[in-house]
Amino acid sequence: KSGFVSIVGRPNVGKSTLLNRLVGQKIAIMSDKSQTTRNKIQGIATTDTEQIVFIDTPGIHKPKHRLGDFMVETALSTFNEVDVVMFLVNVTEKRGPGDNYIIEKLKHVDSPVFLVLNKIDQVHPDELLPIIEDYRNQLEFSEIVPISAKDGNNVEHLVKTIRTYL
Ligand code: GDP
Ligand code: MG
Repeated sequence: KSGFVSIVGRPNVGKSTLLNRLVGQKIAIMSDKSQTTRNKIQGIATTDTEQIVFIDTPGIHKPKHRLGDFMVETALSTFNEVDVVMFLVNVTEKRGPGDNYIIEKLKHVDSPVFLVLNKIDQVHPDELLPIIEDYRNQLEFSEIVPISAKDGNNVEHLVKTIRTYL
């Protein structure tokens, strides 16, 4: 099996951290600073039987200037070319304009869209349900998977779920 998976989300939600964990190598630059990832960075996870190409994207946000505009287009261009789009959100922060902007774009995407709730190491499990409900009211998701990209919690389950879409 082989396939392509895009990781999208507003800045600092943990896209690069997740990509690094998925491919087991530090290839994307992780940072507290926004917009460290200026171009598409691809990581390939390979086993004996499969190859999954993960595409990290610049944090999508409403473009304020030309470079921002280019970055948004770069991220958006991957949405319809992949087997799965992972919409990564940070459970420690409220859904904001950045998330809403992405959700509007995702409404026009034909590929399966996963809601991936990241940084669950930072919240009590009881706090997840209302967050999930809030996002489900905005968009229909093919799958909803809570993870911690930082400590790896549930990332293997995420990969298993992705596999069923390849
Ligand atoms: P990106 O802008 O979406 O690529 O975000 P990064 O991967 O650069 O991560 C932004 C910050 O969030 C970094 O300080 C990461 O260490 C932190 N981070 C990422 N994933 C997690 C997580 O699962 N738990 C916690 N506590 N921090 C995380
Ligand atoms: Mg990044």
